[in-house]
Amino acid sequence: RGADVDKWVKGACRFCGTGCGVYIGVKDGKVVAIKGNPDAQTNFGFLCVKGFLAYKCMYHPDRLTEPMIRQSNGKFKKVSWDKALDTVADKFKELHKKYGKDAVAYYGSGQAMTEESYTFNKLFKGGFGSNMVEGNPRLCMASAVGGYISSFGSDEPVGAYADIEYSKCLFIVGSNASECHPVLFRRIMRHKMKNPDVKIIVCEPRKTTTSKIADLWLPVDPGTDLAVFHAMAKVIMDNNWHNERFMNENARITNGKETFDIAAYKEFIKDFTPEKVEKLTRCPADNIRQAAEWFANSGASTSLWTMGLNQRTRGVWANNLIHNLHLITGNLFKPGADSFSLTGQPNACGGVRETGTLCHLLPGTKPVTLDKWRSHIEKEWGIKPGTINPKPGFHTMKMFDSLGGEKDTSKPIKGMITCTTNPAQSLPNLNKYIDGMRDSFLVVIDIFPTRTTQLADVVLPAAFIYEKGGVYGCSERRSQLTEKCVEPMGNAKPDVWIAAQIAKRMGLEKLIPWNSDDSMKNNEMAWSEYIRVTKDTDHTLAGATYSRLKKEKAGLQWPCPTTDHPGTYKRYVRGMDPMFEHEGFQKKFGIKMPLDRQFYFYMDSKGEGKANIWLRPYAGPAEVPSAEFPFYLTTGRVIEQWHTGTMTMRIPEIARAHPNGYIEVHPDDAKKYGIISGDMVEVTSIRGKSILPAHVTKVSLPGILFVPWHDQAMDRMINFVCNDAVDPGSKEPEFKIAAVKIKRI
Ligand code: SF4
Repeated sequence: RGADVDKWVKGACRFCGTGCGVYIGVKDGKVVAIKGNPDAQTNFGFLCVKGFLAYKCMYHPDRLTEPMIRQSNGKFKKVSWDKALDTVADKFKELHKKYGKDAVAYYGSGQAMTEESYTFNKLFKGGFGSNMVEGNPRLCMASAVGGYISSFGSDEPVGAYADIEYSKCLFIVGSNASECHPVLFRRIMRHKMKNPDVKIIVCEPRKTTTSKIADLWLPVDPGTDLAVFHAMAKVIMDNNWHNERFMNENARITNGKETFDIAAYKEFIKDFTPEKVEKLTRCPADNIRQAAEWFANSGASTSLWTMGLNQRTRGVWANNLIHNLHLITGNLFKPGADSFSLTGQPNACGGVRETGTLCHLLPGTKPVTLDKWRSHIEKEWGIKPGTINPKPGFHTMKMFDSLGGEKDTSKPIKGMITCTTNPAQSLPNLNKYIDGMRDSFLVVIDIFPTRTTQLADVVLPAAFIYEKGGVYGCSERRSQLTEKCVEPMGNAKPDVWIAAQIAKRMGLEKLIPWNSDDSMKNNEMAWSEYIRVTKDTDHTLAGATYSRLKKEKAGLQWPCPTTDHPGTYKRYVRGMDPMFEHEGFQKKFGIKMPLDRQFYFYMDSKGEGKANIWLRPYAGPAEVPSAEFPFYLTTGRVIEQWHTGTMTMRIPEIARAHPNGYIEVHPDDAKKYGIISGDMVEVTSIRGKSILPAHVTKVSLPGILFVPWHDQAMDRMINFVCNDAVDPGSKEPEFKIAAVKIKRI
């Protein structure tokens, strides 16, 4: 398509957490093509169908192009931006005055740009004094965050995608990477094809296309894999395949209260024999033994996981137990060895996690409860000491449970802005939360009508990424700038401008001054402030200025403390990680790096530079099949569709592929229920039901059903059925596991 465009603009893909680098082709002021960036270290020029066709949704006739306010007859009326913004600001002022600071909330997204998350976080925490700030990464990555912080002391991976090509053994857990991170999966396949001796182990309840390239499949019942990880650890310890020196130098064994020696660790896992674990999980004992041997003795093992591990009531523990395997075998700092969480969304890491746009965090991923950091942020933001509430707000599920109308005295949150997300389709146990969204004062910023805009009072049309520009930070700590390519459709506006205009109307223009008509100028000011505020953190991007990001072919990986620093491949390794020499960081956080330590987990809260090998007891899912609900239900994505289908269902080529949800049923179960492919099947949990066409296939184990969750039709929306029980640590809901029954209708 090179000859058909006026210019190619460098940027990042709008969809998954792989973070593929793209070039956006512009002709006559319109985006007409997207191609892969061959210099991008994430994808080396390759794209999947979503990234390649993303631009096609931009010009769909459904685009929201004018602000709208719901009238007393329930219908929306198009209004001017002034009218819409005045309405939002006036109502928020009123709610603030009447019900207090925490009556207004923000719910953002791992698909919003970093500048947008930073701006809304600042507006709410610094302007309104409300920590009722959350984002949809709570629904997908919070357990990974909890796992990294509790095991290694700091969020996000040690290494990078580059470890794939150095790896001798890849342990893929709870991830259908072939469909959910397809370009990254291509790297895995290519590595395997070039190096047939590389072992690939896949652990998950479905034998997906990811499992098809595996040397070994560890099938498990949903939520039971904690036992498999302990059993692998037991086999490793029993055979002396562990790395005692690495364990002693770099880790402590703990249950959170006390520390233990290696003998006590062996004692703790002694009951997890492969045979016992086979009975509990359905994973064959021999497969567990083989996986342990390959993992421990490969020379360089990397684990990769995503929602199958995170969206669980024991998601943090599952993450800890994967990290344990790396810590006991010393598979961490060398090339090809890493414990790597694959992020679902394109900017869950860079946007929401790193800017601290969650109820308990501040920019730099430091907690609101940390007095020193709160004072630092207040000083940087030029606000009065004590403005930021030291008490965390509500996590996502509690926030939506607390959202309601002014007449409802049981619901303290009365108003909410949502940005770049569709909670009326994406929350689990939807029946419980829809009334709150409908009854409260709901402002939705989005590019298309969604289930959430149907419940809104005010709808604000947003510019698409390629109409405004901004930074995305993908799974491997890499931030990439997308430059603005074209003007927004109709009267759509960039989200930073929208936030700044609301701030202006609430007397907070000094706090959020980024309200010019030039979106790249606004973004650059927000970004520059963000990297200045966080320059002394272990996540520093101080060297990743806009002018540098424009020049870099493939973005930059933090820590990147100075404009001449190339970015960091491995954290915690002397000679590779710049934090070993970063005086500002060490001073700010009172860290001393001993010269005799080559590896140092500098965010260890005990100040010993060690990671934690956790003694986590086994715990299964919140719901298990019963006589009444005899099946496990698990959900996920298909390669063509993205989340709630808001964008992908408006790309004609993609809309034709998997337009509807379906329910995968194993042939043994189908026979018992008299179901054949194409029959309509009602699937019911204690919370709700859904009706879907059957797809009879051996992909899942017998007794396990699978439904993709992109379908927007009310009767096929599977999140009515999903469980909203949360992990006690990460507060992430257990989307992945529900007990259900089925019937053919
Ligand atoms: Fe976009 Fe992910 Fe596909 Fe890459 S793999 S093109 S980031 S959707």
